[in-house]
Amino acid sequence: MKNEKRELIDKDGLRVDGRKKDELRPIKIMVGVLSNADGSAYIEQGKNKIIAAVYGPREVHPRHLALPDRAILRCRYHMAPFSVEERKSPAPSRRELELSKVIREALEPTVFLEQYPRTAIDLFIEVLQADGGTRCAGITIGSLALADAGIPMRDLVVACAAGKVDGQIVLDLNDIEDKEGEADVPVAMMPNLNLITLLQMDGLLTPEEFEEALNLSIEGCRRIYALQKKALKEKYISIREEVET
Ligand code: ADP
Repeated sequence: MKNEKRELIDKDGLRVDGRKKDELRPIKIMVGVLSNADGSAYIEQGKNKIIAAVYGPREVHPRHLALPDRAILRCRYHMAPFSVEERKSPAPSRRELELSKVIREALEPTVFLEQYPRTAIDLFIEVLQADGGTRCAGITIGSLALADAGIPMRDLVVACAAGKVDGQIVLDLNDIEDKEGEADVPVAMMPNLNLITLLQMDGLLTPEEFEEALNLSIEGCRRIYALQKKALKEKYISIREEVET
């Protein structure tokens, strides 16, 4: 029997999870969720569940990695064995190594690394449940965990992807759309400074489609940025209330 391709956008223009083309998945963000890390944050974005923890600035081990004029930012992106349908090996895959680098490079420009010479700032991103767009969600909470650790930053970094599904440009792809769609454009930015720190493209787009996807990703970033700031404020307002009572 012919294996027919699934329809990803129905006749009413709705996607597989019922969203409109420019709609984000439901997002819940929490800051300061781990007591043993210097900073932490957690996100649920659709079915994604991801946690980030930051340690530092602290002494660098091994010592020869230390830089005399600035801190080093290290990042480990890791997917739990139970985060995807078929058990994933806990050993770091090539994809996880690449995403660790991509996330570090997206966050590095925001941190005042020069204020902490000869130290390391370590960021751990643990994907507990994956459903597409985990690098973006990881960046979004990575920057919140850095802020929660009290590390001086130029701006929060926020990330979001747009892509092409059934020939149409849509926002915030889920796992099915990511795998069965035609293209994916993840973007990370510092919204207040209007600077992009990550721009990738997987798949094929015309120059016009690329521009549309980029603009939609930026719009998604701006919406998530508001949620990021709200989550950060919520933690510190609740601490103030505890201190005052
Ligand atoms: P991102 O999560 O940033 O979109 P990818 O495009 O590489 O990164 O991955 C897309 C999605 O594919 C992931 O979010 C996850 O849901 C799924 N995925 C990734 N690795 C695996 C794996 N080893 N097994 C099953 N699904 C996976």
